[in-house]
Amino acid sequence: MTSTPLRTGADYIASIKADGRSVFVNGERVDDVTTHPAFRGAVASIGRLYDIAADPANRERMTFTSPSTGGPVLRCFQIPHSAADLTARRAFHEQWARATCGLMGRTPDHVAGFFCGYAAKPSVIARGGAHFAQNLQRFYEHIRDTHQYVSYTIVPPQIDRSKPAHRQSDPTLYAGVVEERDDGIVLSGAQQLGTGSILSDWIQISCIQPLQPGDENYAFNVVVPTRHAGVKLYSRRAFAQQATNSFDYPLTGRFDETDALLVLDKVFIPWEHVFIYRNIEICRDQWWKTPAHAYGNHQAQTRYAVKMKFLLGIAQRLNEMTGNAGNPAVNVAMGELAAHVQTIESMLHAQEAMSSMDDEGVLWPSVATLYAVMSLQSEEYPRMVDMVREMAGGSLIMQPSSLSDFDNPDIAADIDRYVHSAHATARERVGLMRLAWDLIGSEFGGRHMQYEKFYGGASYLVKQNMLRTYNMADATSLVDAALALPPF
Ligand SMILES: Cc1cc2nc3c(=O)[nH]c(=O)nc-3n(C[C@H](O)[C@H](O)[C@H](O)COP(=O)(O)OP(=O)(O)OC[C@H]3O[C@@H](n4cnc5c(N)ncnc54)[C@H](O)[C@@H]3O)c2cc1C
Repeated sequence: MTSTPLRTGADYIASIKADGRSVFVNGERVDDVTTHPAFRGAVASIGRLYDIAADPANRERMTFTSPSTGGPVLRCFQIPHSAADLTARRAFHEQWARATCGLMGRTPDHVAGFFCGYAAKPSVIARGGAHFAQNLQRFYEHIRDTHQYVSYTIVPPQIDRSKPAHRQSDPTLYAGVVEERDDGIVLSGAQQLGTGSILSDWIQISCIQPLQPGDENYAFNVVVPTRHAGVKLYSRRAFAQQATNSFDYPLTGRFDETDALLVLDKVFIPWEHVFIYRNIEICRDQWWKTPAHAYGNHQAQTRYAVKMKFLLGIAQRLNEMTGNAGNPAVNVAMGELAAHVQTIESMLHAQEAMSSMDDEGVLWPSVATLYAVMSLQSEEYPRMVDMVREMAGGSLIMQPSSLSDFDNPDIAADIDRYVHSAHATARERVGLMRLAWDLIGSEFGGRHMQYEKFYGGASYLVKQNMLRTYNMADATSLVDAALALPPF
């Protein structure tokens, strides 16, 4: 099999340019996501990631050799068989995350991790039939060897969470099987939220929510090309469209990775793209009995660690700008912030140091370590953002109305005089404050608050994962031993 050259940013953009995908925003269908102001910044950012991976200078860090083609392919598709392999995956994720300041969560390396996890444990998928595992293996090799970008939607719309999927007021509200044919299946209904789906080549559709008997039509794992007829993506408010210029919105304009409601209108899926079919047990086990969830979230945590370091760096620069960097009380707060960031980063290393090899030679990151950080993220991220707001005082608010104020000499004279810092011009100060505000206060920043709370599922579910994976027997053995101590 011949190898496909590494995908460049230009290749990526050309391949999704006006390709017929049905994306809607502000009441209109989008002809071309690569040029539309709502999406072009994010498209360009994904393109830059492909360029970084294709750069010969990054060959060792960003690629490994495809066992099928012998050509270089993205390292995020490498199934780890040693702790060093996992560390190498992290280095890949980190390089990409640094290029987006950790602000794009569903870059192509996220769902790549899921497919590595499935392909690593074909026995789990094969419980539904050997052909499903073969389909999965073929698709995994295809996306690996042709450098594809898969996004995913694995949660149904939040219509009525008090009822299971099949008891919703209309059984075709949640994405489900409406027809089985000799050559495949037909799906209709919606999935709640596809981050990056508007930008991706493929969308994985499955379910991570607990399903009940009767929900079989919703228990599947399939992929569909984003441009497939009948696949509709309704974008949330596109914050990037409010980004009037890169000075006032340095992050929104570049990293608004998009979230969309996925609607399937009688979408045909050929059998070759079906991996789990009407099987509640395997639909659940794909997350917990393969390392899919662990690999995907190892990427998510690597990204999160970069983002938190970015936040810490912003806090430091902000304190320098306001002249508060030497204040003892501010130093205490900065020490606490740094402790949070160091803990997050160290826990990434702990996932590797405490990883384990299963009986099929597949390396799993320490899932208890992974879920420990994810469990606390929902409370810790808002706490860290709040600490930076506390340090900022009015500086984030009392800024010129826009970059244009600098263009009017009369206004600029006052701004230069009263908005500068001891060691920085007004323009430098405002540039930093706009960056900080875009991260923690803009609508884009507000979305990030929600993202860090929910990207891994609602925190009550993540905490249940934590409990399930924690070695509680070791904790209770201490109690039992204490109770069994001889009398003194
Ligand atoms: C910005 C963003 C991006 C996302 N990206 C993706 C993506 O790309 N792909 C994807 O598939 N998913 C994605 N998600 C996650 C997904 O869509 C859901 O938001 C997530 O799984 C939580 O489910 P829910 O929103 O239905 O919340 P619910 O399950 O309805 O929970 C909402 C809240 O209700 C309360 N609650 C409900 N039930 C219980 C209970 N049993 N016990 C205690 N409290 C309870 C809790 O306070 C909980 O936080 C994303 C989410 C966000 C916010």
